[in-house]
Amino acid sequence: MTKGVAILGSTGSIGRSTLEVIDEFADRFEVTGLAAGGNLELLADQIRRVRPSLVSVRKPESVEKLRELLGDDRGSLEIVHGADGASQVATMSEADIVVAGIVGAAGIPPVHAALKKGKRVGIANKEVLVAAGEVMMRAAREGGGMILPIDSEHCAVHQALVCGHQREVRRIVLTASGGPLLSRKLSELDSVTVDEALAHPTWQMGNKISIDSATMMNKGLEVIEAHHLFGFDANQIGIIIHPQSIVHSMVEYIDGSIIAQLSTTDMKFPIQYCLTWPDRIEAPYARLDLAQVARLEFLEVEAERFPAVALAYRACRTGGSMPAVLNAANEVAVERFLAGGLPFRGIVEVVRRTMDAHESRVVARVSSVEEALEWDRWARNEAGASLVD
Ligand code: MG
Repeated sequence: MTKGVAILGSTGSIGRSTLEVIDEFADRFEVTGLAAGGNLELLADQIRRVRPSLVSVRKPESVEKLRELLGDDRGSLEIVHGADGASQVATMSEADIVVAGIVGAAGIPPVHAALKKGKRVGIANKEVLVAAGEVMMRAAREGGGMILPIDSEHCAVHQALVCGHQREVRRIVLTASGGPLLSRKLSELDSVTVDEALAHPTWQMGNKISIDSATMMNKGLEVIEAHHLFGFDANQIGIIIHPQSIVHSMVEYIDGSIIAQLSTTDMKFPIQYCLTWPDRIEAPYARLDLAQVARLEFLEVEAERFPAVALAYRACRTGGSMPAVLNAANEVAVERFLAGGLPFRGIVEVVRRTMDAHESRVVARVSSVEEALEWDRWARNEAGASLVD
C-alpha cells in the first residue's frame, strides 16, 4: 500500500529533495498535498508532475496566478492559501506523513496542526522545535503524532539512540562542519561578505541555514532541537567540529562506547529514513567510500570565533520564551545581513541585545502556539528596532 505524503515548503531545498526521494520510490509513496511560498513556476511544474489533490500558496493573490499558470492542467486540484491553507495541507486525511521544510516561524502552525492530527511529521524546519518545542512535543504525545527529525545530526542521533536505553546515555555529540569561516583570521570576520558566508564547504542548502552555519547559530539551534526531541539537558549535549561532515552525530553511552552514524552529505538520506522508518530500504544515492574520504578530523569549538553557540546554550538553559526570542532575532538579523544591511558579526550582536532586553523583562512559559508566535513577534520587533538605531 502506498503512503500519502504532504510537503510543506515544496519548492525549497528540502521540499525538492523530498520529491526526488519520492520519485525513486513511486510504488511506495504518493504526494497528496503541497504548500509553497512565492516560486509559483516551480510549484506549477511540481503539480503537473505529482498531481496532488490540495495545494496551498502563501499569498491570496497567488491563487489566481497559479490557476492561470496551470490552465487546463489544473484538473480538480483545490488551491488554498495562507497559514490556514498550509495547515489544511498538513492535516489532510490522505497524508500519512508530513514533511515540514518551510523556513522559519511560518512552519509552526501547520506542524502543530499535523501533530495534533496524529501524523508522522518529518521536521526539517528546526525553528519550529526551537521556538515551540514543548508545545510540539505535547501535541505529538496527545494527538498520537510523532516527530522524526530531517536534520542530518538529529537523524543520526535518532539512529544511534537505538543502541541503548535513555538512562545509559552519557551525552549526545552533535557534529558541525565549522562552515566556510572556520579558518578565517578572527580579525577578518568583520569584513565577511554575503557570498563568502553563503559558500558552505560541504552542504548545499538554503540561504538562511547557510548563514546560520557560518555563524554556527545553526548548531546552537540544533542543541535546543536535540533537547526537545530526545529529552536531554543542555549539559548532556555537546558539539564537536568535524569539517568533512561524514560523521553526522554521535551518542556516547555510560560505558564509554560512542555510536556514530556516517553517510555522504546528502539530505536525501535523512528524508528517506523519515519516509521509510521503521524500515530501511535500498537507497540509490551515492554510497560512502571511506578509503576515498581517507581522513576524518575533529576539533573543539572556538568560543570566540562562534559566539552564537554560547547564546544558544544560554537560551536552552533559560528555556521558556528565550529560545523563541533567540530564533526570531536571529531570523531578522540574518535577513538584514543577506540584504547587505548588517556586518557579519552584527548578526550575533543583534541576537545578544534582543535576548538581554528579553531577560530584563520576563522570561515566560510557552504553553501554546499563540504564545510562541507572540514571543516570536515581540523579538522581531525588538531586533528590528535595534537595527534602526
Ligand atoms: Mg543539521
